[in-house]
Amino acid sequence: MSKTPPSNRPGFATRAIHEGYDPKDEKGALVPPVFMTSTYAFDTVEDGGAAFRGERNAYIYGRTKNPTQTVLESRLASLEGAEAAVATASGMSAISATFFSLFQQGDRILVHSRLYGNSFAFFGHLRDRFGFDIRLIDMTEPGELEAAAAEGAFKAVYFETPANPMLDIVDIEAVSALAHRHGAISIVDNTFATPYLQRPLEQGADLVLHSATKYLGGHGDLIAGIVAGSEAHVKQIRQIGLRVMTGATMAPLTAHLILRGLKTLELRMERHSSSALTLAERLSRHPAIAQVIYPGLAGTKGHAIASRQMSGYGGLIGFYVDGDYDRAAKLCNRLQLSTIAVSLGDAETLVQHPASMTHSTYPKEEREKLGLADNLIRVSVGLETAEDIVADFDAALAGLR
Ligand SMILES: *Cc1c(COP(=O)(O)O)cnc(C)c1O
Repeated sequence: MSKTPPSNRPGFATRAIHEGYDPKDEKGALVPPVFMTSTYAFDTVEDGGAAFRGERNAYIYGRTKNPTQTVLESRLASLEGAEAAVATASGMSAISATFFSLFQQGDRILVHSRLYGNSFAFFGHLRDRFGFDIRLIDMTEPGELEAAAAEGAFKAVYFETPANPMLDIVDIEAVSALAHRHGAISIVDNTFATPYLQRPLEQGADLVLHSATKYLGGHGDLIAGIVAGSEAHVKQIRQIGLRVMTGATMAPLTAHLILRGLKTLELRMERHSSSALTLAERLSRHPAIAQVIYPGLAGTKGHAIASRQMSGYGGLIGFYVDGDYDRAAKLCNRLQLSTIAVSLGDAETLVQHPASMTHSTYPKEEREKLGLADNLIRVSVGLETAEDIVADFDAALAGLR
């Protein structure tokens, strides 16, 4: 079904609700059953042997495959416009399973310098302990990427867009085309945008991965990941990265919760985006705020590229308080409705202070060089009434000294 040409394919929300499941196949159950089983029975030894030889597409053991996951995988593959997808236990396991499957010691990988903090740490381990040649470069500067590419053969480019935590916008089409010219593949972490707002594979990327913990699940009640791409890549990641190297399988109940979350993905992303724009505009007019970063604001770097490659700007905002670490901390502490917490994409508005929290994995000099300053605050705008969110920030700012 994922190979149906886009022209006569059902719409995004329809696929988010129906793709990959027919109640007729499961005794009429409207919602896909949760298959709580670790192993699967074979009729005969010969039957089992055929499954192990890959002669038929059978379920063998729950670390590699489970029917509830299969529904989720086909649904997400469809939403991302991919041939296939593989579910994993977390976003980090989606990333590690991908790298452990497709690359090896000595491979050069070009990585955008601003990343989710633990992805940054992961690439540090690949470089320092596993002999990968990891090059951190600023992919929002085309010159830097060209220069790094010209230095020698590389196997992949890896980036997030919008990138954590400063919402850098990387040009998916241009960077993927450059990778292809050099015989490399392009891997995009699409967590911040979701396939509703941005589909990297349609713009030339080869693999797209997610922390499904965030918007895909959407309710702050699970940890999960997903990788989508070609049948061949996904098979490799399932058989090596998932089955053997990490063993980080998504629990069937988690797959069920994400399937439930996906039903409202479109509605949620619309609301996250509109409320984030409202808050970004309000904050950018506030005298106690030095700068607001939101791809939907014309003054934000990357706005033009975001407008081309995204259909909305998402729910994440970064802003610099006029002042230092203490003032930033004080503002967070004064918020009443918004919760101080890492993670994002939940119904609740979450604020966090990257310098002391998510990006404390970056050395201080590196952090400052990248603009991850002490007065930066990141907001994941939730689904509460937009005016209540704005009022919370207004009140916290009003008494700020
Ligand atoms: C949270 C996050 C991850 C890691 O995902 P987990 O589900 O927490 O393991 C990776 N990339 C981005 C952009 C994230 O926000």
